[in-house]
Amino acid sequence: MKIIDGKVISQAIKDEVRDKIVKGNIKACLAVILVGSDPASGVYVNNKKKACEYCGIKSLSYELPDSSTEEEVLALIDKLNKDDEVTGILCQLPLPSHINEDKVIDAISPLKDVDGFSKLSVGALSIGAPGFVSCTPAGIIQLLKRSDIAISGKRCVVMGRSNIVGKPMAMLLLRENGTVTVTHSKTENIKEITKEADILVVAVGKPEMVDASYVKDGAVVIDVGIHRLDPEKNNGRKLCGDVKYDEVSKVASAITPVPGGVGPMTIAMLMYNTLEGALRS
Ligand code: NAP
Repeated sequence: MKIIDGKVISQAIKDEVRDKIVKGNIKACLAVILVGSDPASGVYVNNKKKACEYCGIKSLSYELPDSSTEEEVLALIDKLNKDDEVTGILCQLPLPSHINEDKVIDAISPLKDVDGFSKLSVGALSIGAPGFVSCTPAGIIQLLKRSDIAISGKRCVVMGRSNIVGKPMAMLLLRENGTVTVTHSKTENIKEITKEADILVVAVGKPEMVDASYVKDGAVVIDVGIHRLDPEKNNGRKLCGDVKYDEVSKVASAITPVPGGVGPMTIAMLMYNTLEGALRS
């Protein structure tokens, strides 16, 4: 059984981005908008800034108060869309409830939408046109490719159909010539479907829901879930995924751990997308 090491692979991607930026003297600049004071969002934004620094990408940070209006956020995005120095824009989610997330995300120029969340980016992915791809699923494709796991012709099952993980994941696996099935909370006889998967991507948002009874012998299992645990009640473990790792790792041929699997890939792919944005501009 192979453990797919997201730390090593994400580091390699960040190093490649840094190399291209330094050698090509590329001016890349990521503008990050944070509205409100959600502590988890603050941590994510900080990690993104650190990764930018590592890769030689300039980062601009806009920290707006909770009381900001939708118009103010849209006006800032409009300004950043027109700013030639800025090659990537992202708005940290979730936004406060009085702001329409879809409206804000769709206001980001498709040329700078490095998160790949806007309707235009998602539409481009669906028809195979160039555009930014959502970082987590794009990172999963990199994990598979860089671990020499073939996708073409394989039976791929994606558990979960969210707009940021499940749906783009399915489109990307299809683009790689996988034969793809998507399951969700209304799927009947779900195990019959998941047990057919050569590659099983689990993004259900339910701690350790997927045990060995969902998995075919020798399948590749990608666990997208991240859940915090109380270390005192869990033998020192601070995080778990959507997959029961101890059980599933005994039947899988390859698996991503949590932490250290899919998680680190998301920021690495954000750096990759920001470089792409700079090259396109
Ligand atoms: P989400 O929006 O909550 O979507 C969960 C999906 O799972 C939904 O489509 C839901 O079906 C389906 N589902 C729920 N319960 C199910 C069940 N019992 N059987 C089958 N399907 C079920 O979650 P998400 O945003 O895609 O995230 C999924 C997980 O990935 C979360 O743990 C999240 O924290 C993690 N995540 C990690 C990263 C990262 O590593 N960087 C990034 C994003 C998300 P319905 O559509 O029918 O409700």
